[in-house]
This record gives sequence, C-alpha cells and structure tokens, in this order.
Amino acid sequence: MNRRIFIQSAAIGTLGAPVFSGYSAGSSLLDKIKLLDEVIKQPVLKKELFNSPVIIESVELLRFDNSYLCRVRSTNGAEGLAAGHPFQQRLLDSLFVNRMQPFFIGKDARELDSLIDEMYVGNYKLQGLALWIPLATIEFAILDMLGRIAGKPVGELIGEIHNTEVGVYFPNNNRGRSAGESLERIQGMMDGTSVKALKFKVGGRMRRVNDPNDPPDRSEKLIPMVREAFGNDMVLYVDSNSSYTIDEAVRIGRILEEYRYGFYEEPVPFDEYEETRQVARTLSIPIAGGEQEPSLHQFRWLIASDALQIVQPDQFYFGGMIRSMKVARMAEAFGKTCVPHLSGGGLGYLYLLHFVSAIPNAGPYHEVYRNNRQTGTPVESRTSSLVPGENGKIKVPTGPGLGIEIDPDFVRRHVPVKV
Ligand SMILES: [Mg+2]
Repeated sequence: MNRRIFIQSAAIGTLGAPVFSGYSAGSSLLDKIKLLDEVIKQPVLKKELFNSPVIIESVELLRFDNSYLCRVRSTNGAEGLAAGHPFQQRLLDSLFVNRMQPFFIGKDARELDSLIDEMYVGNYKLQGLALWIPLATIEFAILDMLGRIAGKPVGELIGEIHNTEVGVYFPNNNRGRSAGESLERIQGMMDGTSVKALKFKVGGRMRRVNDPNDPPDRSEKLIPMVREAFGNDMVLYVDSNSSYTIDEAVRIGRILEEYRYGFYEEPVPFDEYEETRQVARTLSIPIAGGEQEPSLHQFRWLIASDALQIVQPDQFYFGGMIRSMKVARMAEAFGKTCVPHLSGGGLGYLYLLHFVSAIPNAGPYHEVYRNNRQTGTPVESRTSSLVPGENGKIKVPTGPGLGIEIDPDFVRRHVPVKV
C-alpha cells in the first residue's frame, strides 16, 4: 500500500462521491484535524426516511428498582422504549428530568443530530458521563421510535448495514488472583462456548503497580499461559485499564507481541495522550482505547496523531450512536477500526449490536458478556436469539427500531421518576 490515504465516500455515509481529495503522509497534524472536522460535520441520521415531522410529545424516565426505562411518544402516537444505564443513571436523575426532558418536548425527532449538538452547546460544562448517559438513553428511545415509524432497524437509520451478525469476544474482569487462578476462571468463562475470542485484564488498574489487585508477575505469567491453554486459533486481547508507565507498557507489550495478541487496551492512563502515542509508536500490536472519552475533538486528536489504532467509543458514555458513528467515520478515514466499548448490564449489548451492524470498519470481535440475557432487561426478539450461535456470532435483530420487545409486565412495574 502506498503512503497516501484517501477518504472514501463510505467514510462519510450516504453521500455519493468522496468530498475530500486526501492528504499525504507529510500532512501536518492541523491539516489532518481539519480534514476530520469535515467528517464530523457530515449528517448521521437519515432524515430522508421521514417525509413528515415527528414531533416529540413526551419523554419519560421510568424506574423500577435498579432498572431505568426511557419512553418517548410522538404527537402522532408513535412510541419508542429504551433501557437506561443500570449503574449510573440513578446519579443523574435530576439532569435527565430537569434539563433534558423539557428540552426535547415539541422538537422534531428528525433533527436528532442537531438536537444532540444543541444539548452539548447548552451544557458543555457537564460533558462526561453526566451529560452523555442521560442523553444517550433518550437518543436510543428516539431511534427506537423512528425505526418503528420507518419500519427499519436502527442500524439502517444511522448508516448502511455492513454486518448482519456480530462476532463476539467474552471479557474476563478478574484481577487480584494469581495467574493460575485467573486462567482457571478464564477457562470457566469460555467452557463449552463457540466464541472464538476473549479478553482479560493485565496490570493493577489506574497505575497501581504492586497493588493487591496486581499480584507480582501475574500479567507476565498469564499472557503466555492463556495462549498455551487456548492454542493458536483463539483470538486474545488484553486490557490494562491505565495501569502502566510508558516503559512498563512497552515491556508488557513485547510479551503480548511474542504471544500474538490482537490488541492492547489502555496501556497507560487513558488521558495521557502523548504517552499513549509513544507506546503506539514503539509497539507493533494495535493499541485500543477511547472508552473514557467524552469529546469528539479528543478522539479527533487521538486519530489524527495515530495514538490509537482501534477506537472504542461507548454508546452510553459517549452520548449515543450518532456521536459514536462520527468517531467510527473519523477512524475509517484514517484506516482504523472501531471496537466499541460495552457498558455492561441492561441493554448495553443490544445497542452495541445495532451500532456495529452499521459501521464498515468494525473489528472482527466485540465485547458481549456470556450471561447477557440473565443480567439484562427481559426482552424477546423475533429476529435474533441475542446470544452467539455456532459460529460465535450474534445475529443483529432486524425488526423495526431496536428489534426487541421489553417484557410488558416488567415495563408496567416502572413508575415515572420525579426529582
Ligand atoms: Mg477497557
């Protein structure tokens, strides 16, 4: 491949022809950033699917125990329903009810791209989980409503369908055990599944070397042990959750390379951007990151600087599928892949499946918990089992909207949140 990278028309969605003429490897960082700005500006929601306004009549936040649901209704009687974040939403009820709910009433849902931008401009000091989790929840419900109106799954509202099935990896989140005990747990997690990839934790989390969470030599021993136990065909990933300095990250990275690991997530503190870039330049294993990112412009720098090879926006933490699509497109413009982060619990896996269905630069395997149907909101889908099949992939639901029905008895137990 030559050194010249061209922006493909696919990178900017439904437009017919490439808008950008490309740039050379010698382009300045600012030139690359300007080019990514053009990618960010491209619309995501396909307004052309709707020929008349979809005026939002109500937005409700409903709660039962630790379960949150968002229900939106249009003046024409259409309805959308999505599950909120099961662990974080309770901290953010006031923002949802007092700031966001009133903003959306009376707005045309077809303008979702710009409504999200307006929410940001009006609340930029809250950027982070505080702003993005409630807003993402509302977006999921609106997309479900729009999909039901258009008779299309949400993936078709935000892009073309590139993946009708999604390859899965299971994550093992144990730290604080010896390498041997950790391996046993990883083997238990994978026992009897058809899933072809897995991820586990290395380091102590957030630069806590010599922490009880990181017994001495655990990571160094576990990396070869997992490869040996699972053989050459298993795809292996690790996540350090910001554990290392540059030197430590490179030392561990060399072991990962020796044992042919697929990616290395957050090797140094996630917001040490220059350090991340240094590690990426030194190692050949792809560096993954972005689950903590709240900002399109920070992602823009990480991509233009080649600090990350794999971007990992989280549908909840980054403010929904429309904003995450902009990250995937920026990554695609620079030949990078997208492996979105999963917010566990609730319907996180379902949002991930729909988002991945619509991106052309998805990685081969995506995070889903083995017990996703047990810990999540009770749902049924007529078009998918929602669990991996024999090929280790999950079929993306193809029904309208989110393509699922939440158990009506479960929905009825929820009551409106008042703050
Ligand atoms: Mg992670």
